[in-house]
Amino acid sequence: MDVIPSSQSDERRTVAGWGRIALLALLLSAPGLGRGAGRAWAAPAWGTPAPVAPGVAWAPAQDTGRDTTARIGPYDPHAAFDPGFLASPSSPTRSADGSPGPDYWTNRADYEIHVRLDTAARRVEGWEAITYTNESPDSLGYLWLQLDQNVRRAGSRSEKLAAGGRGSTALDADGGTTPAGTGGYRIDSVAVVRRGRSTRVDERTFGTRMQVPLPEALGPRGSSLRLVIGYSFVVPEGGRGRTGWMDTDHGRWFDVAQWFPRMAVYDDVRGWNTLPFLGTGEFYLDYGAIDYSVTVPRSYLVVGSGELLNPDEVLTARQRARLDRARGSDTAVYVRSPDEVGDPDTRPAGQGPLTWRFRMERTRDVAWAASPAFVWDAARIDLPGGKSALAMSVYPPASASDSAWGRSTEYVKGAIEIFSRRWYPYPWPTAVNVGGPVGGMEYPGLTFCHWRATGKGLWGVTAHEFGHEWFPMIVGSDERRHAWMDEGLNTFIDIYASEDFHGGEYAPKRDGEYAPGGGNPAREIVPTTMDPDAPPIESLGDAVTGAYRHPLSYFKPALGLVILREYVLGPDRFDRAFRAYIRRWAWRHPRPEDFFRTIDDVAGEDLGWFWKGWFLERWRLDQAVEGVSYVDGDPSKGALITISNLGRLPMPPTLRIEEEGGRAGSVRLPVEIWETGGTFTFRYASTRPLASVTVDPDHRLPDVRPENDRWEAGR
Ligand SMILES: [Zn+2]
Repeated sequence: MDVIPSSQSDERRTVAGWGRIALLALLLSAPGLGRGAGRAWAAPAWGTPAPVAPGVAWAPAQDTGRDTTARIGPYDPHAAFDPGFLASPSSPTRSADGSPGPDYWTNRADYEIHVRLDTAARRVEGWEAITYTNESPDSLGYLWLQLDQNVRRAGSRSEKLAAGGRGSTALDADGGTTPAGTGGYRIDSVAVVRRGRSTRVDERTFGTRMQVPLPEALGPRGSSLRLVIGYSFVVPEGGRGRTGWMDTDHGRWFDVAQWFPRMAVYDDVRGWNTLPFLGTGEFYLDYGAIDYSVTVPRSYLVVGSGELLNPDEVLTARQRARLDRARGSDTAVYVRSPDEVGDPDTRPAGQGPLTWRFRMERTRDVAWAASPAFVWDAARIDLPGGKSALAMSVYPPASASDSAWGRSTEYVKGAIEIFSRRWYPYPWPTAVNVGGPVGGMEYPGLTFCHWRATGKGLWGVTAHEFGHEWFPMIVGSDERRHAWMDEGLNTFIDIYASEDFHGGEYAPKRDGEYAPGGGNPAREIVPTTMDPDAPPIESLGDAVTGAYRHPLSYFKPALGLVILREYVLGPDRFDRAFRAYIRRWAWRHPRPEDFFRTIDDVAGEDLGWFWKGWFLERWRLDQAVEGVSYVDGDPSKGALITISNLGRLPMPPTLRIEEEGGRAGSVRLPVEIWETGGTFTFRYASTRPLASVTVDPDHRLPDVRPENDRWEAGR
């Protein structure tokens, strides 16, 4: 997900909150002003410690939070270069090089869904048939499903958490109060169908989870069953909770998501994944084909994930011809222009409701939007290998200007072409951007961006939401447990999308997700890295409060990857590894260690010191220049330069060295200089006395104390 600038949203958003926390962090980083002494950070389970390295694979740093020096260091080379890190052996499902193992499996969930939208009561009602295939080696005596709409039930966990005010729940995620009375799902019936026999079962609902006991266990390795569920729910007002409705000048508008009971994931690491939906932590879903139909009043248009199967029934001949023209057009073609909104001739003649049918292959979810107020335009997306897809946008007439949604389809096309070219081809036939009440939420092939987004903000949110098609829609990580694996990797690819789009029209990417102050990201991250209350990147999605969500799930991991790509490994080496990760884990469920291992494996570099320090721990970087002497006291024989690593995070240093008289040179040292200790002296072939030595002269690293980065003669 993401936000658009708060001025463009009717919801209180987190960007301003982050500014406040950054300021707070700056204040707290002053010596003597810290708080939260002795706070213990729970270490995420990180594989099994290798037998050869007793103790733990990695240990949480002691952090008093009390004084700056204690929070920066001391440097411990044995913690930084830890032979026990990522040392758990491979398994039949996950290989040591970061690939899926020879016995890797995922279960499959195919859906057939038929619903009717009661636009007056704002209710979605209907039924679904889930074909669930168990590819695991285990027999399953029951199934777990996700009832996300129940986050809105009175008395839900989310509501209770929200009352605590820490902003770790739906309230904060959605920027307002949870509307009461929408009540979540009403489950009318659940039946299990096997070998042609249908059995009604009594489901057990626990908040946003539903357990379906099976009359007979579902066997391993390819057994399947059908689950038929009748249900309904009332769509909540506004854009909260990633779904909602609003009234426009031209009728009601619905953005509808999490709209059918969805299978929880049974995986090789945790079995059933049953973390509740609290509003912040996003989703974890299996793949399959989803066939769905939505019945709406005839005046309504519908867009949805996947391909529209019955254009002949729901569009006019003129609209179908325009869509055909759009399939060959580099620029947006109106399927329905602003002037045509409300014109009865833009709907097929006849009486009664219409049913819109869609299908999407190889997907983990689908979402849709419906309204009589759609302006609709479309253009061709050019994909690698001569393939193409269709970019589309729908938005109300009020948003149709060229400074707003009039360029949405251009943005969709641009972003998808860039991501496809750089990383992995977009796999679906359509991509729809919806300008309705929901501001910044991604689904396969369809995104909700806010109808009031404009200009650079609309580009940014569109690129970001479509970036999610790669993480987590193609690479199916567990968003609820590892938010950075989709938000951080997505923010990282968005940085280069902004550089590539339209000659860098909106570059560099600087927004609420990445360097919100607009300056050097490596400097802007420092208050977050120094903040004693900031959790590690690798935290449960719901354990990162609103103020830290963008700094820690988006900005810090994205900057970490930029440092690896542009400073540590170089673009070619990094990009090959990053592409390999996408290829290896497309349509699968990677964990953080699969990502780390793949990058290490393809790049040929053990980056454990960085994965541990930046992603799992909250280590700070503090490189310093300690002093200069000369061989035999003679500058013409060479200078002896001493540098130190005072923070816990190591990093290969780059130095700029200037001699009296202006001769200058640059030195890059390998990270291994820090394996044996935090101080290192090296010889530099000077010809005259040195005037200055500067570490990280171009400010590319998040060094928390730049004041000790420079030595000058005579000072
Ligand atoms: Zn996002």
